[in-house]
Amino acid sequence: MKPIVAIVGRPNVGKSTLFNRITRSRDAIVDDLPGVTRDRNFGDARWDDKAFTLVDTGGFAEGDDDAFAPHIRQQVEQAIIDADAIILLLDGKGGISPFDADLIAILRTVDKPAFYVVNKIDGEGQEKALSDFYSLGIDTLFPVSAEHGYGVASFLDELTAGFPEMDAKEERSDAIRIAVVGKPNAGKSSMINAILGEDRLVVSEVAGTTRDSIDSVFHRGDRKYVLVDTAGIRRKGKVSFRLEKFSIIKALRSLERCDVALIIIDADVGISDQDVRVAGYAYDRGCGAIFLLNKWDLVDNRDGKALKRLTEKLRMDAKFLSFAPVTTVSAKTGQRIQRIFPLVDQVYAQYAARITTGQLNKAMDKALTRTEPSLHKGTRLKFYYATQVSTRPPTFVSFVNFPGGVHFSYQRYLINQIREAFSLDKTPVRLLLRQRT
Ligand code: GDP
Ligand code: GDP
Repeated sequence: MKPIVAIVGRPNVGKSTLFNRITRSRDAIVDDLPGVTRDRNFGDARWDDKAFTLVDTGGFAEGDDDAFAPHIRQQVEQAIIDADAIILLLDGKGGISPFDADLIAILRTVDKPAFYVVNKIDGEGQEKALSDFYSLGIDTLFPVSAEHGYGVASFLDELTAGFPEMDAKEERSDAIRIAVVGKPNAGKSSMINAILGEDRLVVSEVAGTTRDSIDSVFHRGDRKYVLVDTAGIRRKGKVSFRLEKFSIIKALRSLERCDVALIIIDADVGISDQDVRVAGYAYDRGCGAIFLLNKWDLVDNRDGKALKRLTEKLRMDAKFLSFAPVTTVSAKTGQRIQRIFPLVDQVYAQYAARITTGQLNKAMDKALTRTEPSLHKGTRLKFYYATQVSTRPPTFVSFVNFPGGVHFSYQRYLINQIREAFSLDKTPVRLLLRQRT
């Protein structure tokens, strides 16, 4: 399991600057995806042979930047609980604030690695600021300049020292792994209960990969499924989990481990920004995805156009997940719950698809002939052979003389041609361009 590291700290200490420095320092695979413009507040990072996911908690806060706004605090507290390691970022220029002392007090009570990093140590006289921070009783401080890079390398050495090495791949079973995600009150727990409560389903709970995670395993027909991270949901009373705070890190963790994400939306409320954000996480993780418009029993559908209205808005706001099927359900009445599994199977079949190099190149040649790429600085772009480098999701590499010269709209065209040629309309598809001269 890739560890999740949260950067916490008050606004303006440099969280997003540090986040960018760490996640963009190596070329991440997501950079090859065309047309992604959303702000991201988590990213995959790599340091030597250690991989981890970095989360910038600043990105979760909505609205104003008031350090004491309760929702920021809540998100930070939740992040501290959910992450595997925490970076508390302090401002070496601005000095200590009461909020810092608060966060340090919280961190002292948590039994997981915390790293105290003092940022903006890039000018004269800033070593003095460091000694002020030592007065808070912290043993080890890491002075850095997120902006200029000073100190970041040695900090990353320390941060990742205890992380597992990368090629220790998670063992994959033949099961289809399903995550249930969505904003608070969308009906996630109800959905999990509705699915697991189905007649004749024998469900066993097994330990997940992290300390407190539990997965639910069951068979339908001759297929094995795993609902990931269902800890406690089946036993807990309604009240207790309604109080549970929404945790983006928990959602990320489930998405990281799933093949297909069920994105639960409260159709009675409509499509919200938060729904789109959750969908964005699923997209970024490269999951297969299905939108479940839940609480359909409550939706006013007298004109028979409710589905059309909601689907149009969803397709508009979450364009990036245009391949995700949409269906209406009710976790409460059980309406169309039995439709979910056939859809999961369809999505998974595409998600795990393998295309032979021969077939792929035939399709690519056809696409390249039908619409030729435009010239790059007067030179012809040459596409050499392409090959599938991984599944889940299907990921292809095409060798090109000038990868940077391929316009993203052309890359998208090629992806769409691949989708069409191999009936991959319900899964993410990645096409990476690599240099070859
Ligand atoms: P966040 O609100 O914690 O995410 O902070 P930002 O990353 O947006 O940074 C806040 C401000 O501090 C910006 O103006 C940055 O340019 C500046 N900043 C970030 N890192 C450094 C640094 O290492 N040195 C200096 N001098 N300024 C920095
Ligand atoms: P979670 O926070 O996403 O896990 O949401 P819950 O499963 O706790 O559901 C939130 C509320 O919506 C609860 O009061 C549920 O009883 C209710 N609810 C969930 N699904 C449905 C549904 O399909 N129809 C109706 N009418 N209510 C639902």
